[in-house]
Amino acid sequence: MDIQKIREDFPILSRTVYGKPLVYLDNAATTQKPRLVIDSLVDEYYSVNANVHRGVHYLSQQATELHEASRETVRQFINARSTNEVIFTRGTTESINLLVSSFGDEFMQEGDEVIISVMEHHSNIVPWQLLAARKGIAIKVIPMNDRGELLLDEYEKLFSDRTKIVSVMQVSNVLGTVNPVKEMIKIAHEHGVPFLVDAAQSIPHMKVDVQELDADFLVFSGHKIYGPTGVGVLYGKEEWLDRLPPYQGGGEMIQYVSFEKTTFNELPFKFEAGTPDYIGTTGLAKAIDYVNGIGLDQIAAYEHDLTAYALKQLKEIPDMRIFGEAVERGAVISFLVGDIHHFDLGTLLDRLGIAVRTGHHCAQPLMQRLGIEGTVRASFAFYNTKKEIDTLVAGIDRVRQMF
Ligand code: PMP
Repeated sequence: MDIQKIREDFPILSRTVYGKPLVYLDNAATTQKPRLVIDSLVDEYYSVNANVHRGVHYLSQQATELHEASRETVRQFINARSTNEVIFTRGTTESINLLVSSFGDEFMQEGDEVIISVMEHHSNIVPWQLLAARKGIAIKVIPMNDRGELLLDEYEKLFSDRTKIVSVMQVSNVLGTVNPVKEMIKIAHEHGVPFLVDAAQSIPHMKVDVQELDADFLVFSGHKIYGPTGVGVLYGKEEWLDRLPPYQGGGEMIQYVSFEKTTFNELPFKFEAGTPDYIGTTGLAKAIDYVNGIGLDQIAAYEHDLTAYALKQLKEIPDMRIFGEAVERGAVISFLVGDIHHFDLGTLLDRLGIAVRTGHHCAQPLMQRLGIEGTVRASFAFYNTKKEIDTLVAGIDRVRQMF
């Protein structure tokens, strides 16, 4: 991989902040966009813009073709069996809310249970809590060890005859842990229970194959995989999606409407009420093409190397505490240094041009488990370099000396 050449594809990476070269290490929050993704958004508005589906005119048909071709790009990327299984949403959060709402309405009654894990993002906790408030379901939580690995023995023990679904992230946005979701899905299926994979943090970094995982549902956001904001995906096995009621009502999702009786559209449109972000889906497809062009295997290997290098360098800093020491880990490192508040460290690094995230990372229950309020988090993409890691390490050292 020619990183310098790759970096040239991302215009923002050559900007400065406070007169310093930008060192962008907040990729778990959102990734930067290659020029061809940005251009595709502008180009489509310039030359193809028209509302999709049902249009008889040329532009509408062209826009529809682009939109549906993007669905096929996503289908191939995650290896879904059919484009009927690829629902476009606004992102991971909306995908989870859709699923919780539809699945909860159809398949869960008071006293039924969902299993999630202690390291989940709020977007995979709060929708279940809202459902609990509406329907009286119970939430069971898989614990972890101090390295940040889920305890599979405890997971197995959580199943009961009231368990209706399991919903767990594939990669932690805080600890970097890569959870063994394939094995966990197998266990759930042995109990006859479907499994939702939150792939928000895995999809940009590793090959995610829904058939290989045998995932029943899988969700991700376009903006975390170099695509535009405002577009995401809910994958669901067709046999499940067929049995779920619509989430939102409106245009697109209907077959026939009368005041007496309304029938719903077929998949995937049943779950896509209203005008979709068809410009965004084109951008997402371009981003996926770009990632495919580099190759996920190459990306994974490079990022693995970079993360190992970063871990080694960071551990040499006195008073460094790293949260998340799982054997299988992704390109995210959360840490604290001495008693420096995470916010102070993040703010001072920012002044050096280094963009990291601080706080609870939308995982407050995980912070409670770790006994802390927040961390500093550096998260990497394939356009980051060892030189940038050195800048981070030197920056932390400088902040340490100030305290
Ligand atoms: N799940 C995980 C694991 C995440 O890291 C994030 C984003 N930080 C989300 C869900 C929510 O994604 P979005 O805000 O794009 O809906």
